Amino acid sequence: MNANYRWIGLTFIACFTKVLFGQSNWYNQQWNDGKVELELKKLMNPKKVLYIAAHPDDENTRLIAYFENVLHVDVAYLSLTNGSGGQNLISEELGYDLGLIREQELYAARRHDGGEQFFTSATDFGYSKTHTETFKKWNKEKILGEVVYRIRAYQPDIIITRFAPYTEGLNRTHGHHTASAILALEAFKLAADKDAYPRQLEKVDTWNTRAIFWNSSWWSYGGKERLDSIAATNPEKYKKLQIESYVDELGLTSSEIASNSRSMHKSQGFGTRPYYGPNFEYLELLDGDGAALDALVNPYIPQTEYEKLLNNARFAKADAIPGFLKQAIMRKMGDEDDAELTRLKDLYLKSIKSRVFVTADQPLLAVGKHTVNISLLHFHKWPVFIGSIRLGDAKLDINQNLEPGVLLEKDLQVQLDDPYQNPKVSIAIDGIRLNIPLVYRTSDPVQGEVIQKVFTIKPVTLTIEQPELISINGELKQTPVFLNVHTSIDSAILHVMHSDTIYYADTLRNLVEGTTITQYLSPPAGKSEVRLVLPNRVQVHKKHYTLKHNHIPWIQVTAPAQLTNHSIMVVCPAKKIGYVAGAGDKVAEFTRSMGVEVEALDYTSVTAEELAQYDAVVFGIRSLNVHEDIDKYLPVFYTYAENGGTLIMQYNTSHRLKTSNLKGLKLSRDRVTEEDSRVIADTNAVVLNKPNTITPKDFEGWVQERGLYFPNSWPYGSVTPLKMADSEGDWYTGSLVIQDLGKGKFVYTGLSFFRELPAGVSGAYKLWANLLSL
Ligand SMILES: [Zn+2]
Repeated sequence: MNANYRWIGLTFIACFTKVLFGQSNWYNQQWNDGKVELELKKLMNPKKVLYIAAHPDDENTRLIAYFENVLHVDVAYLSLTNGSGGQNLISEELGYDLGLIREQELYAARRHDGGEQFFTSATDFGYSKTHTETFKKWNKEKILGEVVYRIRAYQPDIIITRFAPYTEGLNRTHGHHTASAILALEAFKLAADKDAYPRQLEKVDTWNTRAIFWNSSWWSYGGKERLDSIAATNPEKYKKLQIESYVDELGLTSSEIASNSRSMHKSQGFGTRPYYGPNFEYLELLDGDGAALDALVNPYIPQTEYEKLLNNARFAKADAIPGFLKQAIMRKMGDEDDAELTRLKDLYLKSIKSRVFVTADQPLLAVGKHTVNISLLHFHKWPVFIGSIRLGDAKLDINQNLEPGVLLEKDLQVQLDDPYQNPKVSIAIDGIRLNIPLVYRTSDPVQGEVIQKVFTIKPVTLTIEQPELISINGELKQTPVFLNVHTSIDSAILHVMHSDTIYYADTLRNLVEGTTITQYLSPPAGKSEVRLVLPNRVQVHKKHYTLKHNHIPWIQVTAPAQLTNHSIMVVCPAKKIGYVAGAGDKVAEFTRSMGVEVEALDYTSVTAEELAQYDAVVFGIRSLNVHEDIDKYLPVFYTYAENGGTLIMQYNTSHRLKTSNLKGLKLSRDRVTEEDSRVIADTNAVVLNKPNTITPKDFEGWVQERGLYFPNSWPYGSVTPLKMADSEGDWYTGSLVIQDLGKGKFVYTGLSFFRELPAGVSGAYKLWANLLSL
């Protein structure tokens, strides 16, 4: 082969926006004296653990449940990313929205195991082979600073990592994982160093964490017995904990708590059942003083007056607990930012066996005047005195004792001025000011009671059906934009802004509350912004939508109202193709956008003669993994190719392959995970020249990765026109393998067309058109 290879080195900068959303605490947890006592034990014990890993689901809920509920030591899980790069097993959301769902799943998990939850701004950009690749994308200094800050603010006694800070032995894992441990280990030292990130010291003090451990697993040592024997020879370094216990206060075993927690990761399909029996965890000392762990494992003896007060409270009769709590709250008063004060106040409200609701009649409230309803009820002998109730400038004085079992209901007229937030109502009970979220309460015929936080919005909200448009060869594309009117207004002006100028403007009149106005917009190529100008200079720049799932609170998403029109010029002589659906991808849909007719094929019934009408026949991703009986029907497709057709198979995983009939191809786990990886192209190859000429530019702007599960062996004479390699990886030649089959072609490609076409990557369209037109 007379190959003329060229190097292509590329860079790609990912762009993310951040919006705020609802916080973690949630209503409707059942409380009793046992739970109050458990919370008192935790409040009394000042010991803390910071658990650090990379993703939602990395955290070991067994260990967290044990520390929290058996040792009464607070644990916070610092997940460096929010998991936005993963798959979603329960619904359609991916990317940014999936990250928001996973954040809420972590908060929901912590409500079960009792831990706290934190994040950094590190993005989950998909699979990464090494920590070096990870740090290239994360901005290591910045993320390290965030980990240091969290340690200084949380002040843990020990830090625990889920992963090893090195990749030797059996510890090679996702680059994010190794990176999380490396950052934890560096931050462990830096948090105590006043010269590290000195600007943080205006807000937090330096902090000396006593020790850092790796929560090692037997799989890192090749077996349970092996880890046991290594640990036994070095008890100073390896701490073995028997974590299984019965938590009386909750009536649950620690495994049950852990599996309830783990099962909140529903978008990842991580529901689990508890394990009954002895359950061991290993903590392997990475740095610091290993004895720090003993201080956590041994029962804590209250030291300060405050701790003694809480300790006395837990031995007191239930009737007296509110009195103790009130004393503890008074001691903490004055520092309203103190997280412990919030916990004490919350516990106080539980201890008086109360139900306190401040409700609005809708989950979305436009800024302006509204009436909210306050209802208060308790079942405690303690004399509960209700003082004043405030929301913004609105105030209502009650000033009366509330008898047990008597429902107090009041309306309050309020003025809500700030959009995109959950208003808080302040209620004084027994001289303690409590902040209660404004909620929406309703009955759902299937779910029963639904309680969601109220979210304030502007008088009109925008939703954009298709924020990403792909326009092929100058074709005019449009998307509906919905204007949801929450407060009647006379007129509004809708603008589409492009490069800081108004590209399109339309005046809308007589917008009536409760209606939705649909506008069809055709943005120019590139990025545009939708803007709505309302009376009194109010502008709406953001779109808004709600993600609703039953296992987590609703997520109110506000994000810039942007439109992107990916304008792509591509020649595609193929006019009609057949598509065998695989595990689910949108390749057929985006192939249609090129003007190609795509027919869905039933692989079990189609004949080679019927296939002859198609310019190409394509298998969707993982077709050979998900169709149990595919092996039986493949010969029909190979006959189609032998008769002169073009058969294209997209990636399949090498395990769980339902056929070995791949015409001499062998699949491997080779993958190129850097979307801007080096690529060498055989510029003479027909597939890179006809009808579209593929140039280095066509490998720019790819998203998430190049491809995966490439073949590493193929029949002699096959054409492999692309070589690619991650910055530290091997060169792979199997991303695109084309072999002659009779009069036709059999194309196998692990390139991620399923990601690149929906993302509007121009080069991927051109290469895809060339493949369809071989
Ligand atoms: Zn992970």
